[in-house]
Amino acid sequence: VSRNPAEPEFHQAVNEVLDTLEPVVGRHPEYIDAKLLERICEPERQIIFRVPWVDDTGEVHINRGFRIGFNSALGPHKGGLRFHPSVSLGMVKFLGFEQVFKNALTGLPIGGGKGGSDFDPKGRSDNEIMSFCQSFMTELYRHIGEYIDVPAGDIGVGAREIGFLFGQYKRITNRYESGVLTGKGLSWSGARVRTEATGYGTAYFVQEMLAANDHGLEGRNVVVSGSGNVAIYAIQKVHQLGGRVVACSDSGGTVHDPDGIDLALLRQIKEVERARIAEYPERRGGKAVYVAGKTVWEIPCTVALPCATQNELGADDARTLIESGVVAVAEGANMPCRPEAVRLFREAGVLFAPGKAANAGGVATSALEMQQNASRDSWSFEHSEQRLHEIMRNIHADCFETAEEYGHSGDYVLGANVAGFSRVADAMLAFGVI
Ligand code: NDP
Repeated sequence: VSRNPAEPEFHQAVNEVLDTLEPVVGRHPEYIDAKLLERICEPERQIIFRVPWVDDTGEVHINRGFRIGFNSALGPHKGGLRFHPSVSLGMVKFLGFEQVFKNALTGLPIGGGKGGSDFDPKGRSDNEIMSFCQSFMTELYRHIGEYIDVPAGDIGVGAREIGFLFGQYKRITNRYESGVLTGKGLSWSGARVRTEATGYGTAYFVQEMLAANDHGLEGRNVVVSGSGNVAIYAIQKVHQLGGRVVACSDSGGTVHDPDGIDLALLRQIKEVERARIAEYPERRGGKAVYVAGKTVWEIPCTVALPCATQNELGADDARTLIESGVVAVAEGANMPCRPEAVRLFREAGVLFAPGKAANAGGVATSALEMQQNASRDSWSFEHSEQRLHEIMRNIHADCFETAEEYGHSGDYVLGANVAGFSRVADAMLAFGVI
């Protein structure tokens, strides 16, 4: 803590992982001798930079940009960029640390990284977003590359922002280096299913987890927090798999639609109009309600998918969910459940899938985008989705079997941490002390 002051999210993420590694380091004293636990918690590099830009009224703004290359034992640094006023060094380090294990779980050749800025895109015009992205890339371009570090989107960074970032990279470097960023548009080297991948992957993981524990998704009531990229496509896939999502939310409140969320309407409001979900009930003809200040956890369900942001689900929310009979919780977002909530779920026998396993579909599909870019190829939607489905099945099996192997059957947190850590640790050992 004294070495990394004022980084509470990073401490939380490190504690959560280290708490579960005892069984594996017990079997592998060479990890201790090589100081792998200490090494894996120290990012390979951290870049902090100034991002000056001018708004539509001519006012100058100064934001702070970050890029952390956390670990490249398995491949180039890989992870998203987050644009949100809460972004700080500690937050980027927590996300980068998680990313290392998540990327290892995909089984694909990608290391872990993360970045972003405390820039707030809410209410900004397209021109302002472009101005910010161009300034951000004017510094970032010298630190990234197909074989070095490959950023992608995250909160506040979607296809529009990736477009502005890629355009500036191309302009500065004079290279059409498609593999330098993922999450690109389909007409300019993007990959099918990338937009849907994280949400779809979370739904597939839940399906696997329920099936492995004698439950099914068919006919189950599901709640999903958030109404952004991950939430929207988790809702779509849950519906396709036979579940019914009865609630979603944003930072202002919750929509409750007992007949099941009308996805076409939600997408129109969020993706086309970039408006707020408070508008949903009226346009749904009064079949739904929106309650300001309420969370989705208050709505009875069998499956809960936190898909909004870190630490959004606390101990009281966990108690409410347990009382309402929740059977499974899977993290579509990164670290949305507080440690006390995770403990309560596990004690109550609720199946719990940590984000580094349940939301790995996004980065896995980004790695598939890199494969397509490297081979100048473009796969069909069906083929890409099949690959995603297979990857999520493998991640589930990996977590499930690792937990069994270490005598902690059904403990997906331990399974994910141990499986991810072992893969990275073995590669680091092979490279010697670097
Ligand atoms: P978006 O920016 O598209 O959406 C975030 C959503 O969460 C918005 O609807 C936002 O509402 C809502 N939200 C924010 N805070 C709260 C809160 N306290 N309570 C309820 N809703 C809230 O981001 P993404 O969907 O891309 O990412 C969501 C999470 O998933 C993040 O943790 C991200 O790191 C993680 N993730 C994303 C991946 C991806 O491929 N996109 C990959 C892996 C993980 P509002 O508009 O009001 O802020």
